Amino acid sequence: MNVLFATSEMFPLIKTGGLADVSGALPLALSQVGVDVRVVLPRYANIKTDLIESEIQIGQKEILGQPVKINLANLNTGHLVYLVDHPVFSARQGNPYIGPDGNNWHDNPDRFGLFCRAVVALSTGLFGDAWKPDIIHSNDWQTGLIPALLSESSSPKNIFTIHNLAYQGVFDRPTFERLGLPWSLWRPDALEYWGNMSFMKAGIVFSKFVTTVSNTYAQEIQSPEFGYGLDGLLHHKQDRLKGILNGIGEDWNPQTDPLLEKPFSTSDMTGKAIIKESIQHEFGLTIDGNIPLITHVGRLVEQKGIDLLIQAIETLGSAQVQFVILGAGEHRFEHALRSLAEKNPDRIAVVIGYDEKLAHRLEAAGDAFIMPSRFEPCGLNQMYSLRYGALPIVHRVGGLADTVTHITPESIKDGSASGIVIDHLDVSAIHWAIGYFMEIYKDRDLYRKIQQQGMQKDFGWITSAKEYKKIYSAALKEQTHDESSQ
Ligand code: ADP
Repeated sequence: MNVLFATSEMFPLIKTGGLADVSGALPLALSQVGVDVRVVLPRYANIKTDLIESEIQIGQKEILGQPVKINLANLNTGHLVYLVDHPVFSARQGNPYIGPDGNNWHDNPDRFGLFCRAVVALSTGLFGDAWKPDIIHSNDWQTGLIPALLSESSSPKNIFTIHNLAYQGVFDRPTFERLGLPWSLWRPDALEYWGNMSFMKAGIVFSKFVTTVSNTYAQEIQSPEFGYGLDGLLHHKQDRLKGILNGIGEDWNPQTDPLLEKPFSTSDMTGKAIIKESIQHEFGLTIDGNIPLITHVGRLVEQKGIDLLIQAIETLGSAQVQFVILGAGEHRFEHALRSLAEKNPDRIAVVIGYDEKLAHRLEAAGDAFIMPSRFEPCGLNQMYSLRYGALPIVHRVGGLADTVTHITPESIKDGSASGIVIDHLDVSAIHWAIGYFMEIYKDRDLYRKIQQQGMQKDFGWITSAKEYKKIYSAALKEQTHDESSQ
């Protein structure tokens, strides 16, 4: 079974969020369950070439009058990866989607439209590559045109995964015309979306199966609140829509994590205490192992509830609790966080920017990790928190609801308690959750018991990889059926 995994980011080459972690780890797990998988992504200027062991050029071809090169690279992580090379990617430094002014690149539809065409040309042999995929597994709006462009051919089959429905890739009709897409796709049951075109809709409509990254999110996106206008379509397709929870990779293992000062495990937690002290010291917080430390890492956008968290911390009063927050995103949140830290230097620290090492250390240092997301398709940080012994404080949505079990007398008794889950998110609910955490933290035996339970939970990728393999097999079976009935 050959699978081409198309994505706009992949750890460790390039990462802005969870999609990169998934694209880095899932293909490895798929190989372990017997799938021959290769990844394809754009060759951005920021791709770290020291991670590429060797590469060969597969070919060069004109796509819409522009020369596109495809290289096959062998990474020292074990992946075989195709890199689509064109100046719209390789000549622009920085974030893959956003320009230096903080806005999306104006030609993103052209850039990712070109990427989709290159993937289609690659998969149908137009670059002359001998390896042929049976399945193309596309991810999020940037790859949504791949299934649409392949819809006329019987092979390969399309699987599409929604990692976040809030980003849909919606562009105006002149863009559709400029992209040179066939007019047959300008239909309400194809790409057309209220007078515009939608890349995300294209991916959903033209794929055999659609998956998303948790069971709860698979239900939520069929409702107007979380469906962003595509709920009707997703509901209609519900028999072909499945939630498969993301896993977490071995690079997030506190026993072996090279980014930590000292490793730790359920049997020896001294490393965790050392890292907490080192964080308190580094950021000028009061150095005291008994003061609870709550950490947060994430994109500073409304989705993550960062506005509510800021308000909650501002109005928390003199509670004996510390916060360290790492993130980058909207300037208004960056400013608000900076001023919060300036006013409370001994108990609040803020780092604006992207820092992989600090993200790992904050998971390790935290006694709790807070994620008051308004919606969260899967969320990875709460799973990292569980593994790193930081009690997750989350909102009951999407993957957060599926991975964290609220602490109640019953869940403590049956051993499932793992964190604090907010039912109705607002500032006072965050106050309540922080208060509840501090109460539990005071009862050290109880806190340790819950912490240890969380650290032992299995979030390995193999379980998810097996689920994806079942979906691929189902799509291929239909192919055989379709063809035999012709
Ligand atoms: P999303 O994909 O919506 O951003 P996820 O929880 O699925 O959210 O994944 C976010 C990933 O990005 C995690 O691995 C998290 O640690 C990482 N991350 C987010 N912001 C930063 C940052 N400022 N510095 C380092 N890592 C970050």
